[in-house]
Amino acid sequence: MYKLFIKDIDVRRKRVMVRTDYNVPLDDEGNITDDTRIRATLPTINYLLDEEAKVIIASHLGRPEGKAIPKYSLKPVARRLQRFLSEKVKVTLAGDCIGPAVKKQIDEMRCGDVMVLENLRFHPGEEKNDPTFAKELASLCEVFIQDAFGNCHRKHASMIGVDDHVPSAAGFLLKKEMDYFEKAVNNPMRPVVALLGGAKVSDKIKIVENLSKKMDKVLIGGAMAFTFLKAQGFCVGKSLVEDSMLDVVKNLMDISRKNGTKLYLPVDFVVAETFDGQAETKVVPYQEIPDKWIALDIGPATTKLFIEALQDAKTIVWNGPMGAFELDAFSRGTYAMVDAVTSSHASTIVGGGDTDMAFHKSGKTHEVSFISTGGGAFLKLLEGGELPGIASLSDRRKSPRDGQSVPS
Ligand code: AMP
Repeated sequence: MYKLFIKDIDVRRKRVMVRTDYNVPLDDEGNITDDTRIRATLPTINYLLDEEAKVIIASHLGRPEGKAIPKYSLKPVARRLQRFLSEKVKVTLAGDCIGPAVKKQIDEMRCGDVMVLENLRFHPGEEKNDPTFAKELASLCEVFIQDAFGNCHRKHASMIGVDDHVPSAAGFLLKKEMDYFEKAVNNPMRPVVALLGGAKVSDKIKIVENLSKKMDKVLIGGAMAFTFLKAQGFCVGKSLVEDSMLDVVKNLMDISRKNGTKLYLPVDFVVAETFDGQAETKVVPYQEIPDKWIALDIGPATTKLFIEALQDAKTIVWNGPMGAFELDAFSRGTYAMVDAVTSSHASTIVGGGDTDMAFHKSGKTHEVSFISTGGGAFLKLLEGGELPGIASLSDRRKSPRDGQSVPS
């Protein structure tokens, strides 16, 4: 990574702010239903605690839109974090995320303890990237560590503004995300295969474009496939199509052909009369989707085709489900791909909210090389874009002697 890493920077007994993405799901009673994002930041927090730093956690939660709304308080997060840390470590929730009272609390806290700042989005300055808000946050710390990979595509004050004022570096989670991505997409063991699904072509067209330059094969499932099929003149019934993207998709298929990337489309589908888990279903070849029916999952021949295409892969990148997998009747294709990927010897990186959910539901999260904690940020990287939250961190400089990056 071309950015400073936490180990490159002096954090010993310092006030260190860690930007985390603790935007965790909560149930109606305010209980955390999935704490993966909290657990993922423990290597950074424990490293700082070993260095006897004062650890100041900054995060957002939900969309309170600039107002202090109690149901979006980080209280349950602070409580959960306390459970994960040693009993010697005291985790306190601050009353706010900026201001003299918070500063005083931080002055008075012990080295080797943790202060969770209250939700950054209780202040409109966070999402507006207000420089005054960023400066106030920065005044609380001497060092800034970025570990909120899932939020790195957003130009918010805590993501790109605090590091204007204090030295900054990547935490362990951010580095792990970037290292896996680099290994899977920019410098992969070949053959490398992308498995893409989901609903919206317009959201993902740049991904297909970028990956068709880098991958050996791109397999397209999910509702995305219908825009590709319609662009080739096939009838797709009432399946989801983005007509505005038909020309873009035709052009993309030409580019892939020229690049020598093999683009795989489904050869059969599970279709239903209505978008309903109880509706009558049947399996049809891709040329025979009935006029008034909706294709909602890839069929068994496609599953076989995709499994075969994945067989020799040394690297697999997966984003997006193969069908409307939330309904059992249309989930078979997605779960067959979960099985294929987890039984493969390839190094696999999975990202994007829904794909991640399919792994969680199947109970196979531990059988895949890496599941990214970022949705939008992961998609941005797949598009070949730069993440502002990473770009703004302090750079490493090149050593004149060997061209290796060294801390500046
Ligand atoms: P995305 O956010 O673009 O990754 O899309 C994920 C959504 O795509 C999931 O909610 C799936 O239910 C949906 N999806 C996948 N395949 C289909 C399909 N054939 N028809 C309708 N929705 C689909």
